[in-house]
Amino acid sequence: MIRFEGVKKVYPGNGKTPDILALNDVNLHIRKGEFVFVLGHSGAGKSTFLKLILREEEATEGRVIVNGRDLSTIKQRDIPYLRRGLGVVFQDFRLIPTMTAYENVAFAMRVTNIPERQIKRRVPYVLNLVGLTGKARSYPSELSGGEQQRVALARALVHSPPIIIADEPTGNIDPELSVEIMELLQAINSVGTTVVVVTHERALARHFNKRTIMIDHGEVVNDARPKRKRGVDE
Ligand code: ADP
Repeated sequence: MIRFEGVKKVYPGNGKTPDILALNDVNLHIRKGEFVFVLGHSGAGKSTFLKLILREEEATEGRVIVNGRDLSTIKQRDIPYLRRGLGVVFQDFRLIPTMTAYENVAFAMRVTNIPERQIKRRVPYVLNLVGLTGKARSYPSELSGGEQQRVALARALVHSPPIIIADEPTGNIDPELSVEIMELLQAINSVGTTVVVVTHERALARHFNKRTIMIDHGEVVNDARPKRKRGVDE
C-alpha cells in the first residue's frame, strides 16, 4: 500500500539558510488493512512524509510507492488518480465555507466528472456513515469542529479510497470528540480500509494500541507493532 525505500528528503537552502534534511533513510511498509500511527514531535518530518505520499513533494533519494505506483516515475497526468486513491482528512478540514456539508462532499465528486445521479446516491450514504445525515444542509460555520471534521472525513471517503490518512485528527477538536473521530476511523479500518493517523500526540497512539511508527529528526526511531494479549493470537 505505502512503501518507503531508503527515502531521503532535503529542502534546499535559499542561500541564506542551510539545506534542511527533513527525512533520512526512511524505510517502511504499511500493508493493506493496517491501522498505523505515525508519531513525532513538531519538526520531526510528519508533514514531509505526508507530502511525499501525496506527491506534493518529491523524494531527494529513494523510492516512495503508493498503491502500486512508484512516485519517482509517476506521470504528471496520473497524479490526480494517485490522490483519488488517498482519502485525506486535513488538520484544518479544508472545507469550502460557501458550500453546505452536502455540497462540500458532492463537489469532490463533481470535479471528477461523476454523473449527478451517482452523486445523489453516494453523498447521503457517506454523510450517514459519519453520522451527519441531519446536517447535510448546514454550512461549515454552522457546524461544530467535530462535525466539520466528519464532513471532511465524508469527503475523504467519497471515492472509496483504499487508504485514509488523518492528519492530526485531534488537533482542532475537543478531547471528547477525538474519541468519536478515532472510533469512526477504527470502524472504517474494520471493513478493510488502511488507516494512517499522523499525530504528535503520544497519548493518542498509546491509547489505541496500534502499530506506531515514530519519527524523530527525520528518522524512523521506532516501529512498534501492537502488543498482543497473552493467549490471544499466539
Ligand atoms: P512536522 O510535520 O513533523 O512538524 P515537517 O515535515 O513539517 O515536520 O518538517 C521537517 C523539517 O523540514 C523541519 O525542520 C522543517 O522546518 C523543515 N521543512 C518543512 N518544510 C520545509 C520547506 N518547504 N522548506 C524548508 N524546510 C522545510
